[in-house]
Amino acid sequence: MYSIQLGISHAIGGLAPKPERDILMQDFKTIESVDHYFQGSRQTPNAHRYSNFRFESFAPMAFRYFRNYFGIDPHDFVLSLCNQPLRELSNPGASGSIFYVSADDEFIIKSVQHKEGEFLKKLLPGYNMNLNQNPCTLLPKFFGFYSYICNSKTVRMVVMNNLLPSSIKLHEKYDLKGSTYKRKASDMERSKKVPTFKDLDFLELHPDGIMLEPETYAALIKTIQRDCRVLESFKIMDYSLLLAIHNVDLAATEEAERGLNKLAKDERNVTENAGIRRITKPNQNSSTSRRRLVAHSTALESIQMKYDADVVTENIPSGGVPARNAKGERLLVFLGIIDILQNYRLEKKLEHTLKALIHDGDTVSVHRPDFYSQRFENFMANQVFRKVSSS
Ligand code: ATP
Ligand code: CA
Ligand code: CA
Repeated sequence: MYSIQLGISHAIGGLAPKPERDILMQDFKTIESVDHYFQGSRQTPNAHRYSNFRFESFAPMAFRYFRNYFGIDPHDFVLSLCNQPLRELSNPGASGSIFYVSADDEFIIKSVQHKEGEFLKKLLPGYNMNLNQNPCTLLPKFFGFYSYICNSKTVRMVVMNNLLPSSIKLHEKYDLKGSTYKRKASDMERSKKVPTFKDLDFLELHPDGIMLEPETYAALIKTIQRDCRVLESFKIMDYSLLLAIHNVDLAATEEAERGLNKLAKDERNVTENAGIRRITKPNQNSSTSRRRLVAHSTALESIQMKYDADVVTENIPSGGVPARNAKGERLLVFLGIIDILQNYRLEKKLEHTLKALIHDGDTVSVHRPDFYSQRFENFMANQVFRKVSSS
């Protein structure tokens, strides 16, 4: 982790003297490679206590352009990622990827396989075109692609936006694909403090889905459909909607129960009268009310919704999408589309034929990209999210 931080900070620093300019097609193909010898060198004057390693930055000018586009100052980027230890996430995925989150919750570093890295390289020009047309998207935002090489070991990693705040309690978390075949969290996963549930678990826990105001529903579904069209055009499959729920009412009850604050109860009564103006006692965490570093990055911004500043209170991290469950409890929903570096290749086609032979082709999660995106959209629009009838 320390070496990676060293590599990133050196790579970003090295870009500073290069004048800003438009990106060119060849910028998507450049690789910059730096050897970090532990004793230091002319290129890397600072010695370090770790093994010698090589650090490669892929398409540095293109990623600088993306970071700029999202309003990320290079200095802030390095401070976020390299100035404090990163937190490692336990990954429920089967791929064995490593996930690190920056201390300020802004960025995620995910290790990716060779094939995924190669695919990202091919994707970049199209990804850039798409960003320019539409900054409001639930698709991952890529801020860097690096390789750490030590002896014969190579770790490839992407830097992306982090979707989930750590400053408030997330009561439920789902990884949804729109498939029902084997889409149930394992017992091992369930035993975790906040398990990542899957499609079948969602249907069981929320048979009536999650309720949204009509405009919110329309904006969210439109964004998902637009994003799915892009993914389909790149023949991408196997992506998920990451969905995390903060239950505002439950959180208030939990707080009251803990007896931490008698005041909280009184405040809640006030809240009941004043609609959703004030929600819970502030959880005195400076990061909750701080402006996000990355522009267009909160769930709300991604679907192009704006709310009155005082409706979303200052003690709840802004950016969650307001919703309700079937019981009428107020929720804040954090979401985004993840794991998009898998493209439909021959292996998948074979897997599809085999699985389609064995199971009903409709419920297996390995399908052609057009089928995958259609099923994904339908699942989100009809099962996961529902429009509250305005009465
Ligand atoms: P697999 O290929 O086996 O599905 P993976 O290693 O490719 O898994 P992902 O599917 O990308 O991993 O993500 C695994 C988990 O990591 C997600 O369910 C989620 O909990 C967390 N995660 C991934 N991306 C993000 C993100 N951008 N923000 C917050 N959490 C994330
Ligand atoms: Ca996945
Ligand atoms: Ca994956």
